[in-house]
Amino acid sequence: MATQEKSYKFKAEIKQLMDILVHSLYTNREIFLRELISNASDALDKVRFEMTRGAEVSDQKLPLEIRIKADKDKNILTISDTGIGMTSKELMANIGTIAKSGTSDFLKRLSKEAKESDVSNIIGKFGVGFYSVFMVAKEVVITSKSYKKNEPAVQWVSDGSGSYTIRELEKAHKRGTIIEVHLKDEAKEFTEKYRLESIIKKHSNFIPFPIYLEKDKINTIAALWREPKSSIKPKQYEEFYKYLTYDTEPPLETIHVSIDAPVQFASIMFIPKRTFDMFGISKEDIGLDLYVKSVLIQHKYSELLPEYLGFIKGMVDSPDIPLNISRETLQENRIVMKISQTLVKQVLSALKKMAEKEPDKYKEFWQAHSQIFKMGYSDYANQEKFADLLRFDSSAMEDDTLTSLADYTQRAKEDQKEIYYISGPSKEALETDPHLEIFRKKGLEVLYLYDPVDEFVMTGLAKYKEFTLTSVEQADMGKLEKFEDVEKSDEKITALSEGEQRVFKKLLDKIKDILGDRVTDVRESKRLKDSASCLVSPDGEMTSQMQKILHIMNKDTSIPKKIFEVNKDHKLIRNLLKIYKNDPKDPFIQESVEQLYESALLLEGYLTDPHKLVNRIQDILLKSSDWHPGNK
Ligand code: ADP
Ligand code: MG
Repeated sequence: MATQEKSYKFKAEIKQLMDILVHSLYTNREIFLRELISNASDALDKVRFEMTRGAEVSDQKLPLEIRIKADKDKNILTISDTGIGMTSKELMANIGTIAKSGTSDFLKRLSKEAKESDVSNIIGKFGVGFYSVFMVAKEVVITSKSYKKNEPAVQWVSDGSGSYTIRELEKAHKRGTIIEVHLKDEAKEFTEKYRLESIIKKHSNFIPFPIYLEKDKINTIAALWREPKSSIKPKQYEEFYKYLTYDTEPPLETIHVSIDAPVQFASIMFIPKRTFDMFGISKEDIGLDLYVKSVLIQHKYSELLPEYLGFIKGMVDSPDIPLNISRETLQENRIVMKISQTLVKQVLSALKKMAEKEPDKYKEFWQAHSQIFKMGYSDYANQEKFADLLRFDSSAMEDDTLTSLADYTQRAKEDQKEIYYISGPSKEALETDPHLEIFRKKGLEVLYLYDPVDEFVMTGLAKYKEFTLTSVEQADMGKLEKFEDVEKSDEKITALSEGEQRVFKKLLDKIKDILGDRVTDVRESKRLKDSASCLVSPDGEMTSQMQKILHIMNKDTSIPKKIFEVNKDHKLIRNLLKIYKNDPKDPFIQESVEQLYESALLLEGYLTDPHKLVNRIQDILLKSSDWHPGNK
């Protein structure tokens, strides 16, 4: 017996979303049809999947297809499919509630930030595509019959104003779903055949099931990946890409592979021009569609590619995977693993080729995706290939040109066995970093790392060919001595006499007393040229940048203890030495050391309270005005 009609309220977030949709005049509202067709196609994929794994399916013989009809007089558009259908429970669960994680978050931000033009493009990606129908509908009637035998057909009706009704139907229905869209008066255009045809061609051409508009089959393109590569036009790839990703731009790169051994498969992969991070990349958006003999097994299967290639969009089809594989055992399937390994190699070699043949394009890739790509340092099997694809700014680069590690080693000095790097916020900041003074003096190139992940990349790789990746802070100063100075200073600095050297040692002890346990040691610097002093990490410890990252991660605000290095050839220090020789207890020494230490902290980004520093500077300036000749 059929049950009575029952009325239900939409979940709050859905109601919110529908309010946005119902009351807005979206320039791009035609995409509602893309969403409904895509749902129909998903439903057909699902029923085909059930059939291939031998499940009992009602109306076995029904052709798998989508039919669209327009009634101009009644202003109704109907989309029907012979897909998996829905029971009343499923209707309530799938339409009316939000299933996917992250979607409610997305909706909150959508209502606040989105521009009209954005909404239509991203709505389908967040598991709420169905509701786009309310941009054009004043009422929607869904009639659905599940593939499960003995389930009655059900009907769902809503005008999009906050509630819907569901009732079971007495009349027998064939398997599948019929969506009746009662169009708003101002949406009459969607009963025009030519309009519908062009929308379907534009957005749904690659749907793998026939789409009929009245009696005509509209979509023409079969599985693109099964056609010979030579016969496929760039435009076709582009259309396929847009169909897959909803991107409005063409892809940056297309990678089409057909492999026969050891596993047979075909794959079309795309590198988008940009990240789809307008609302953050959701985990559900990562992965390739996995087909077995053209049957979709898993939509956006994330295990096919490692995370660092997560920016790749596309699909894989293999006849070698068992069709009745369960989604749970996919992950352990050896064939899937083999395919994944081959795909990674293909992507890396495509990138290598791009870097060599089309450097400008590679630059675009790097700008768009390097953030994710850099995580690849942990892919040990491909580490060498990965390292060759890295790009960095460096002290030898001009403008915004970047260098590869290979090019760095070409420029390296004879006998240089290290690739040096330093982290910092910007080129400007690094060019005045005291740690680099010795490298500049010796004409040694240093890579500039601006991205927190870069340090992980460097420590993860540890080596590039026979070169050790070395942070300048941890560089062995002894190893630098063998290189001749390229920068000669014009100023003659007379070396300290043996006696003066002894006094300098004492001064270092005095500084150690003053700084106490704020530092681990005070020593003569071999790396400074223009600066009087700096802080360095004790040998064997992580670099400052790494410490900073960990500090931020642990919400730690303490100041790490470091070695305070002093440049004995600096005028300031020579001056201090004189004062010290005169009177080791002169209070000016204490004041200067505090000043030097806090300036170094400031440069390292650790000075939490600048008040003392600023006051001290003012004191010093005031004192200096006493002896300035202009005041006499
Ligand atoms: P998404 O397609 O991303 O899951 P939608 O809002 O488009 O989000 O659809 C919500 C859900 O409604 C689908 O996941 C599906 O379970 C169900 N659904 C929609 N249309 C159909 C249909 N034609 N046949 C069967 N199920 C459907
Ligand atoms: Mg959908």
